[in-house]
Amino acid sequence: MTEFEKIADALYPKVKDISFWEEKFPRRNLEEGREVTRYAPSPTGFMHLGNFFQMFISYSLAKNSSGIFIKRLEDTDAKRENKDAFAVIKEIMDKFGIFPDEYQEKGYEPVGDYGPYIQSLRKDIYASYAKFLVAKGKAFPCFCKATEGKEEILKNREEKFAENDEFEYDACRNLSFSEVKKHLDNGEKFAIRLKTNGTGKERVKFLDLIKGEIEAQANAKDVILMKQDGIPPYLFAHIIDDYLMGTTTIVRGEEYISSTPVHIEVIDALGLKHFKYCHNPLICKIPENGNKRKLSKRYDPEADMRYYFEKGYPKDAVFEYLLNLISSSFEPWRAKNPDLDWREFKFGTGDITAVSPLLDMVKLNDISKNIVARYTAEQVYDFALAWAKEYNVNFAKYLEENECYAKRVLAIDRYNPKPRKDIAMWSEIPEYYAYMFKPYFKCYALENFEIEDDENFKLKLKEVLLSYIGVYKDYKDKQVWFDEIKQMSEKLGYATNNKEYKQNPEAFKGNVADVCMFIRLAITGRKNSPDLFEICSILGECEVISRLKNLAELLK
Ligand code: GLU
Repeated sequence: MTEFEKIADALYPKVKDISFWEEKFPRRNLEEGREVTRYAPSPTGFMHLGNFFQMFISYSLAKNSSGIFIKRLEDTDAKRENKDAFAVIKEIMDKFGIFPDEYQEKGYEPVGDYGPYIQSLRKDIYASYAKFLVAKGKAFPCFCKATEGKEEILKNREEKFAENDEFEYDACRNLSFSEVKKHLDNGEKFAIRLKTNGTGKERVKFLDLIKGEIEAQANAKDVILMKQDGIPPYLFAHIIDDYLMGTTTIVRGEEYISSTPVHIEVIDALGLKHFKYCHNPLICKIPENGNKRKLSKRYDPEADMRYYFEKGYPKDAVFEYLLNLISSSFEPWRAKNPDLDWREFKFGTGDITAVSPLLDMVKLNDISKNIVARYTAEQVYDFALAWAKEYNVNFAKYLEENECYAKRVLAIDRYNPKPRKDIAMWSEIPEYYAYMFKPYFKCYALENFEIEDDENFKLKLKEVLLSYIGVYKDYKDKQVWFDEIKQMSEKLGYATNNKEYKQNPEAFKGNVADVCMFIRLAITGRKNSPDLFEICSILGECEVISRLKNLAELLK
């Protein structure tokens, strides 16, 4: 037995040899090209759009290569643990329909052969690999009282390495077996540190599939691999997990690039094959009067994935928008294939943009409007109802009680060759269709109508309304309906077509389009709306006449 092996045994007398884990978790032997990726959230109680973006990339790389997508819960930092944190992540992934192939929820059995998929349940595994490194002389126990954080005591460092700031060799790196034994016999706790080979002068290169080859200073610190409480930090835990779970490509945020050199030294110390890396850019925004900055959990409500549910964005819109951020090839693909499902767009690491994309809510809304315009009235009804059940119960009740009616309303102008593109999120529906959904139509006050503050306008408006009250009936035919508006317009002194009006505007009070606008104002409160004939037909004669009367009254 070597001195190192004796130390390893003294530290970890009972832990299993790594061969046990290697047998338990055999290499996956997937065909070349099939990716095993993972999403490895920490419990923050919040799912940031950036995390979702990263998760979606990771998921897509696995799906697009018929690979395997794992969800692993990284709960080793007890300080950060929040009781419902993983439930929030599960809820969001479920709602978006992202289901991992292998995963485990807290309190449940693992799904997949490479579990547990919760780091706090993998302590024995980490201990085996820590022991392995100590036995090889590549890691050592550190008994310093404060081994973590800035207050760390590196006793000998100042004397030994005052000249060279890059060195962070630890005071305990050369303890003999008998010294280790003494500490252990005293009941002292230990951390495990990497015995770095770095001297601060070496460089390391690694390939990032998005950014290309990255060169950086190699590690030169005796970093902690296991804390005194027997729990590894992210650095060590993720390497063991990704190795045993067979991860092929590590997809994570670019904030991890700077710590990749130390990860590589640990991977080399363990004798493992290098992973492929895919450090995704972080989503940024330009706040009003500000400079480009990372989307912030603190300042930007749209950084929280829950925001998209509350507003009621269709999930297809969120995915399509993210695909726009992920790859510049998505937009041309979409233009060429307007009717294909976004899932048909397959991208690989080479297609992912390397620069931080800017969050653009206007663009998201545009994408969403296009998507909603392609849904059937039934789909819109179902989505809006599901949204309302959670976020607007009164509206949900209204929709359920008026299902047929609501579907007729949602069908207005929907099946035209050029459907309207007005709705980006379900929360807009009650307000947008307020004139059709009576409880939402605020017809009792003049200020709720888009009326110009101009006496002449009001006079003309009133005249048209009073006249139309005597004309309107339930029409079956749109042409007949319009012909009668034209006749009335003519009688009131309006031109019946635009050409006629333009040739001699002084001869008329306006044209038939103005008359329609006046009627529309009374019926919908607005100057613009979807097809007025359809709106009136759905509302029915009684309601139409009562609205004409209502506005005429308000104008008194
Ligand atoms: N738990 C880490 C985080 O949430 C995961 C990083 C990774 O994907 O490797 O940031």
